[in-house]
Amino acid sequence: PKYSKEDVLKIVKEQDVKFIRLQFTDIFGMLKNVAITAEQLEKALDNKCMFDGSSIEGFVRIEESDMYLRPDPSTFVIFPWRPQNGKVARLICDVYNPDGTPFEGDPRYVLKKALKKANDMGYEFFNVGPECEFFLFLTDNEGKPTTITHDNAGYFDLGPVDLGENARRDMCLVLEEMGFEIEASHHEVAPGQHEIDFKYADALTTADNIMTFKMVVKTIAHRNGLHATFMPKPIFGINGSGMHTNVSLFKDGKNAFFDEKDPLQLSQDAYWFIGGLLKNMRSIAAITNPIVNSYKRLVPGYEAPVYLAWSARNRSPLIRIPAARGEATRLELRCPDPSCNPYLAIAAVLSAGLDGIKNKIQPPPSTDKNIFVMTEEQRLKEGIEALPGSLEEAVKEMKKSELVKEVLGEHIFNKYIEAKTQEWDDYRTKITKWELDEYLTRY
Ligand code: ADP
Ligand code: MG
Ligand code: MG
Ligand code: MG
Ligand code: MG
Repeated sequence: PKYSKEDVLKIVKEQDVKFIRLQFTDIFGMLKNVAITAEQLEKALDNKCMFDGSSIEGFVRIEESDMYLRPDPSTFVIFPWRPQNGKVARLICDVYNPDGTPFEGDPRYVLKKALKKANDMGYEFFNVGPECEFFLFLTDNEGKPTTITHDNAGYFDLGPVDLGENARRDMCLVLEEMGFEIEASHHEVAPGQHEIDFKYADALTTADNIMTFKMVVKTIAHRNGLHATFMPKPIFGINGSGMHTNVSLFKDGKNAFFDEKDPLQLSQDAYWFIGGLLKNMRSIAAITNPIVNSYKRLVPGYEAPVYLAWSARNRSPLIRIPAARGEATRLELRCPDPSCNPYLAIAAVLSAGLDGIKNKIQPPPSTDKNIFVMTEEQRLKEGIEALPGSLEEAVKEMKKSELVKEVLGEHIFNKYIEAKTQEWDDYRTKITKWELDEYLTRY
């Protein structure tokens, strides 16, 4: 349901909502919130709610710290797991400067700007459907997360009902109560790994949904005595967690990626979009795969992509074209992982694709062989490049990209590179367990 300001005020009264959390997302994809009481809601909905932006990482300098939160009434939802008298609800907000202009450090604004570009090119909708994978781990006696899984089940396994299955069922029920349409929910390949798929929507709604989804999964896991993590590769030697991102553009009410007459039934727009994605993927990787750990997932052998290729036949390349056609025609980008900031990641993916359409970038022929069994020589001969192998390499690529700078805007572009450079440096200078295991006795 898309609520107006009046709807929200009415529901809050009728349903006895006591607290409203005003939520927004920082540059690094962390959900932030400021709680207000129902009495203050009208003021907040009139955009008069100020907060101190200097306390938020990557937001503003101290001297310009007053920020305004403008709640988007259409995002109103009551938290079903909270007490049913004196309820708690939330509103997702846009962040504004005191002078009434949108704050350029707000990731939601970055996505809105990217969507405006698509609109200007004649596309009404950029539809996005994510497949978020996550692990459920046991907690220890102090309630701290471990990396011990509660099960030994595998892909689509139907075992005796266990902790994880119960938690996942609760998550689906809560999400449905909050208005999500759950399309599928299953155990994933690795022990303790799960996937819940919800129906695609326009890009902004989906980015909001991903933030809500992660919050719900973590909350409900906790209530079941488990820890849910969206860390991309928590355990060496088994599959990591991805966030396959299914995308399609709509023009004049029709799926602009579908063309009945083409041998693959893909439109010229779809081919160019693929071309743009492949061309810009190395530059946007630091956004779709933003942490040190992201690059430990992007290695051969665990169903994660490594090379820049596309295919309508096999499931392993970076971009897969699922078999569905007509309104369901879509590209599946397989590298993003759920540690990304969904607003920035979706904005980057869209802009990379639009770059392909604008500049008519024809993709290389599809790769229908298994790239993982090709030698490096064969790969290079076919012009198949690889994704960045580390956060360091990804940040280097991002720095060189005019496209990324334009999508993110100077503010986020600079803050992001600064923070990620520091993150890499911090990691690079630490002594790891691997080094001690390998070297301590040998030297
Ligand atoms: P897979 O076969 O890769 O496991 P899933 O069935 O798990 O795929 O997920 C497919 C996702 O694609 C869902 O979120 C679905 O809503 C979404 N999707 C379906 N049609 C479209 C479309 N036209 N545009 C974008 N996403 C779509
Ligand atoms: Mg799936
Ligand atoms: Mg499926
Ligand atoms: Mg999966
Ligand atoms: Mg998939």
